[in-house]
Amino acid sequence: MRIAITGGKVITPLEVHERADVLIEGGTIVAVGPGVAEGVRERLAADGMLVAPGFVDVHVHGGAGHDAMDGTREAIEGMARYFATKGVTSFCPTTLTQAPEAIMASVRAIHDCQQRPIEGGAQPLGVHLEGPCIEAGKKGAQPGEHIRTAAALDYEGIFSLGNIRLITLAPEIEENRPLIAFARRRGAAAVVGHSAATYEQMVEAVGLGLNHATHTFNQMEGIHHRQPGTAGAVLLLEEIYAEFIADGIHLHPAIVDMVVRLKGPERAVMITDAIRGAGMPDGEYELGGQKIVVKQGAVRLTDGTLAGSALTMDAAVRNVRAFTGRPLAECLQMATLTPARSIGVAHRKGSLEPGKDADIVILSPDLEVQATMVMGEVVYRG
Ligand SMILES: [Zn+2]
Repeated sequence: MRIAITGGKVITPLEVHERADVLIEGGTIVAVGPGVAEGVRERLAADGMLVAPGFVDVHVHGGAGHDAMDGTREAIEGMARYFATKGVTSFCPTTLTQAPEAIMASVRAIHDCQQRPIEGGAQPLGVHLEGPCIEAGKKGAQPGEHIRTAAALDYEGIFSLGNIRLITLAPEIEENRPLIAFARRRGAAAVVGHSAATYEQMVEAVGLGLNHATHTFNQMEGIHHRQPGTAGAVLLLEEIYAEFIADGIHLHPAIVDMVVRLKGPERAVMITDAIRGAGMPDGEYELGGQKIVVKQGAVRLTDGTLAGSALTMDAAVRNVRAFTGRPLAECLQMATLTPARSIGVAHRKGSLEPGKDADIVILSPDLEVQATMVMGEVVYRG
């Protein structure tokens, strides 16, 4: 079946067409440009609207009352449907530092959702394992009692259960080092996070294949002018894709601007790091067996530690635009093509180009989600 999205301002995001159509056939984009929808009967009018690739969130724990650690298909489906209302078309459900059996249950559930696709929601692209091979002193809201080194973890067993796209670890811990090359061999991003690595240890880790960073600045060694730290290395080493949380709470707006300036739209990756309470009323929720409180957009443990976010990708794009003053196409790139590239799926996802999956968001001029299309199917209409 052929369908066309017509008359919108199309941001691919590497090109901007002031008024153009997107032609879709069998879930795939076949043409983008003015006049390509001629003769097509099935149409979605986007006059006065923006047409962009669907958002790709590579670090998200939960939302709408669900958490990836629930270990059920139902939880991943609930997340997928909620994220679609925020313009997300694909995502990496993210696990927590928990007992290996709990992580494995989550990986199995996510894998099941890839084998038998979810209807009416965003698509899981594979798992982001956040821990358990992290630094105890930088655990943040990751439960400390389940931290272990890679030497004490059957990571091959975990990788064999599903499609692991990213693994966040602390590379300064000697026993974790072999996991970096292993992850890269298996096609996963090797991600520094919850880490106290020095600049020198980061240079070494990049030499082993480390290529991505979890929520830059949050729960990593910060910058001192004689100790550039983990954060300094993340910003300066070109190989690294740098995730950042643009909710205005985890990072000062000026620091968001700094991350984007130093990494550029080709290496800065917008994420939400959202948790179960995202999209839910303020109140108490659970994260890895701990009580968390959602209040006015912030999520904290009872001791005040930030514990993920209630951010959505559409709001992140609006915030980054406000915090950086960058062109809209660049802001969208950091929510679409760059995250897709960072996990090796840019041949199918992340931009509006012939041959790619028809994962598309239609936005109002003030960046509110009007409709979301996943693989050519409209899954949400605002
Ligand atoms: Zn996280």
